Amino acid sequence: MKDLEEALKSFAGGRVRVRVGDITQERTDAIVNAANSTLLGGGGVDGAIHRAGGRAILEECRELRRTRYPNGLPTGEAAITTAGNLPSRFVIHTVGPRWGRHAGREAELLAACYTNSLALAVENNLRTIAFPAISTGAYGYPHREAVIVSSEAVAKFLAEDNFLNEVVFVFILVRDAQVFLKNHKLGKDD
Ligand code: ADP
Repeated sequence: MKDLEEALKSFAGGRVRVRVGDITQERTDAIVNAANSTLLGGGGVDGAIHRAGGRAILEECRELRRTRYPNGLPTGEAAITTAGNLPSRFVIHTVGPRWGRHAGREAELLAACYTNSLALAVENNLRTIAFPAISTGAYGYPHREAVIVSSEAVAKFLAEDNFLNEVVFVFILVRDAQVFLKNHKLGKDD
């Protein structure tokens, strides 16, 4: 455990942090939902966010479906709602790729989830954002591969961005945080 605590420091000049816990408890300006394209709720992170956030989020998702995404939110894209009863202010919904279902474009689509969510945060003047390990649950993306893709996408975005103050990677399991700490592509602060 000491190794983990030691490692749960910051990366990328203090702008990236790793935490173990339930993403619904994060107090960042936005938390990211590992949604599905219906935007109408599901299991995993999605279920936890809608349960803890209450009906306001679902109502806004329904409105997004009615207005902007009648056929659902495409894989790799991101959309924003308020956060209902959650401690964060906004929820950014993004749809991860299903492992093995995108003819070799899985990594590109997973990177797009992170990049588009970060861009949407900046567009909405949000400076802090927390991500779950998108696609690594029901959608079957291997954890190690997902870490490489997600950390590279975030590192690349931050290298060109001066607005965001904090990006948090949240893992519900200690084991998954350890996989992140071992495989991420962010610079380490000493
Ligand atoms: P996907 O359908 O994109 O795979 P899931 O929600 O099924 O999304 O899982 C994504 C990851 O989030 C998994 O690694 C899962 O263990 C983790 N997870 C599940 N619930 C939470 C939560 N409340 N907070 C943070 N991470 C969670």
